[in-house]
Amino acid sequence: MSSQGESKWVYTFGAGATEGRADMKNLLGGKGANLAEMANLGLPVPPGFTITTELCTHFYANGRAYPPELKTQVADAVARLEAAMDAKFGEPANPLLVSVRSGARASMPGMMDTVLNLGLNDATARGLALRSGDARFAYDSYRRFIQMYSNVVLDVDHHHFEDILDGHKRDKNYSLDTDLTAADWQSVIEDYKKAVERELGTPFPQDVQEQLWGAIGAVFGSWMNARAITYRRLHDIPASWGTAVNVQCMVFGNMGEDCATGVAFTRNPSTGENAFYGEYLVNAQGEDVVAGIRTPQHLTVAGKIANKSDLPAMEEVMPDVFNQLNEVRLKLELHYRDMQDIEFTVQQNKLFMLQTRNGKRTAPAALKIAVDLANEGVIDRNEAIKRIDPASLDQLLHPTLDPKADRKVIAKGLPASPGAASGKVVFTADEAEQMAGVGDAVILCRIETSPEDIHGMHAARGILTSRGGMTSHAAVVARGMGRACVSGAGDIRIDYKNKLMAVRGVTVKEGDIVTIDGSTGEVMLGEVPTIQPELSGDFATLMGWADGIRRMKIRTNAETPLDARTARKFGAEGIGLSRTEHMFFDPARILAVREMILAESEEGRRTALAKLEPFQKKDFVDLFTIMAGLPVTIRLLDPPLHEFLPNTEQDMDEVAKATGTDPLRVRHRTIQLHEANPMLGHRGCRLGITYPEIYEMQARAIFAAAAEVSKISGETVTPEVMIPLIMTKKEFDILKAVIDKAAAEVKAATGQSFEYLVGTMIELPRAALRAGDIAETAEFFSFGTNDLTQTTFGLSRDDAGAFLPEYQRQGILEHDPFQTLDATGVGELIDLAAQRGRAVRPDIKLGICGEHGGDPASISFCESIGLDYVSCSPYRVPIARLAAAQAALNSDTVKRD
Ligand code: PEP
Ligand code: MG
Repeated sequence: MSSQGESKWVYTFGAGATEGRADMKNLLGGKGANLAEMANLGLPVPPGFTITTELCTHFYANGRAYPPELKTQVADAVARLEAAMDAKFGEPANPLLVSVRSGARASMPGMMDTVLNLGLNDATARGLALRSGDARFAYDSYRRFIQMYSNVVLDVDHHHFEDILDGHKRDKNYSLDTDLTAADWQSVIEDYKKAVERELGTPFPQDVQEQLWGAIGAVFGSWMNARAITYRRLHDIPASWGTAVNVQCMVFGNMGEDCATGVAFTRNPSTGENAFYGEYLVNAQGEDVVAGIRTPQHLTVAGKIANKSDLPAMEEVMPDVFNQLNEVRLKLELHYRDMQDIEFTVQQNKLFMLQTRNGKRTAPAALKIAVDLANEGVIDRNEAIKRIDPASLDQLLHPTLDPKADRKVIAKGLPASPGAASGKVVFTADEAEQMAGVGDAVILCRIETSPEDIHGMHAARGILTSRGGMTSHAAVVARGMGRACVSGAGDIRIDYKNKLMAVRGVTVKEGDIVTIDGSTGEVMLGEVPTIQPELSGDFATLMGWADGIRRMKIRTNAETPLDARTARKFGAEGIGLSRTEHMFFDPARILAVREMILAESEEGRRTALAKLEPFQKKDFVDLFTIMAGLPVTIRLLDPPLHEFLPNTEQDMDEVAKATGTDPLRVRHRTIQLHEANPMLGHRGCRLGITYPEIYEMQARAIFAAAAEVSKISGETVTPEVMIPLIMTKKEFDILKAVIDKAAAEVKAATGQSFEYLVGTMIELPRAALRAGDIAETAEFFSFGTNDLTQTTFGLSRDDAGAFLPEYQRQGILEHDPFQTLDATGVGELIDLAAQRGRAVRPDIKLGICGEHGGDPASISFCESIGLDYVSCSPYRVPIARLAAAQAALNSDTVKRD
């Protein structure tokens, strides 16, 4: 008991005196809180105590010193264990032994894990041998303790002990550890102790109090070791959380054939099937199961059969204990309302529970478990929706690598677009198209891609680049197309001339087969088998539940019929961004586009544009037809014109020939269009201002298509015409007049009346600030957060990938702002623009169409400021549907019909 005024640092559990609960994880750590909870549930937990995480914080705040009252609190807790076990800590005739384990709030590899059998020394080991009547067991336990303690607490390397044990086995001609007798272990122990003394200059501690405090100190010390610090950084765990220490009475799974130890999941963690799943070992301690020295046996007969094991199942060997364990399994699942990962030990046919926690699982298992638990009435549907990490759905929508397959990883880049793909290596888009045309699967490998490569990217199964970040051209386009993509694999050197790529001594030639995994960024040699996705069943059920409660609509970014169809299959409720320039790269049109750019007069441009108009109209007819009455936002031309011109001398000559232009004119025009900062140059609506005939043609094509589809289908098509990169209301008004004029002309020519909206992207800070003026005439805003991030930060979206990782490493930026919306900076501009827009036009439609529209954290931000929809690439639509539902649940904006 702590006296008044003193802090309470120690909480007991088990043997009828449990002070903690499951909801005290912050104070007791995950392991400690769950041990307490299991004890509260009446499950057989060996008694113990937890030293709190607050003590860890105190320890570091006070120069690694403990508060004075800790000694008494620990001594009181040990005395309680002694009473419960009828044994004494350090007493040779009847020793109490304990385990010491760390336990933070979140499970954290990298920290000190476990010391077992603490309390053994020369005298107590002898006592244990006598009392248990099993000298072999006692000395085996002691040698394990010396090795573990010396390694984990005293930092003596494992190899010293392994060398000694190997030497003894060699001398005696033994092959297995189990061949060693009690006497053998005793002489191993003597050598172990000598090795420790040699390494440390002091003998192995015989004083059990010194052992205990040494282990407690090692746990707290490990909170700040380099591995733990790295793990915390990677997983956003604050150092202030601290770890707890759990001291628990030992139970022994290695006392004979009626003893065992094991680990289990209450349901299958890879498939989610509601079947008990686990492994155990007879006559062993916990470390043996994970160490892989002996082959573990299955818990159930079904598991044994499924894994073709001929070792007997626990269900057969220890049916009574197995039944008890199965009851514990059901009780824990009902109590925690989730699949549990448990550890247990059987000592002389008596079951003890050593740990429970929510089990890690694969994405398909997570889905099945959530849906099953909801159907079983254990959780409600909203809870099931919250349980699934939206990002994990990616694994379900694309082919994934067969986890059983061998893989030889040769390089790693960014996981730019999920999915796994194998194919023959090609280095140009044209080759990709040709080889795909004859039925080959290909992987297009480029230093970086440009709009000119689109046809090859479409034809390829996957795309690999050695340069570029997560919003590079390759990454954005591949995500949109649903192609696997690894970008920025900087170790790979691509040599176009010799048609090969090289990485760390491996050379891959054109035609060689590689596999890329766009979900991990790995590049592998040869073909690795993949598994195809399944979109029905649990997936469809959960998505249906999510759709029932989300408030925001989910649209897609799509311009090709294939993408639009894919997006609808995934549940898109319209198109939020159709980038019309992508349609210009089609081989049938690029010539006319180039003619338009090369033309020296408005008349010349109009002639070329007239050739493009029927193509554009057909594009829009397709999109409107596929979207069947759902909203479709079409953005007028955005990129700088030089992107459409050829790059090499040879290509320039070909273009000159094909367009009947003087080759010098082609070169001159290319030089003329060159810009130092094209992203901030002559692009977006600036093209419309200087060449209004381009937007005029596009608007006419949109309206003609809308009129045609409305007439044929009887469905009302209401196109949303979107102007990019607006910085002033004046720009918008000038271009809106061009669009309105085109609409009036089409209405007059077709006799068909139709509705339409004209709105703008908000991609520049000035546009966000002046959103009030702009909303006087703009009927919708779509936040183009790729450009808005670029222009707010002043970071080039094409170049920042080279140094942003260093910014993240140094903690300057927590996330890549091109992936996860910077809620406090860019987000503030969006919020402000939304408010100013709404103040002027209360029913203004607000959406987002940058890459952030498919990012769960960014979607949550969009919900918090009340946007009407998010728009993302087709393959992210299901992720966005789920993330929007979770955002609605978290901000209590759930749709109520
Ligand atoms: C944006 O800037 O967010 C956007 C969607 O446009 P793009 O990526 O085509 O520049
Ligand atoms: Mg943009």
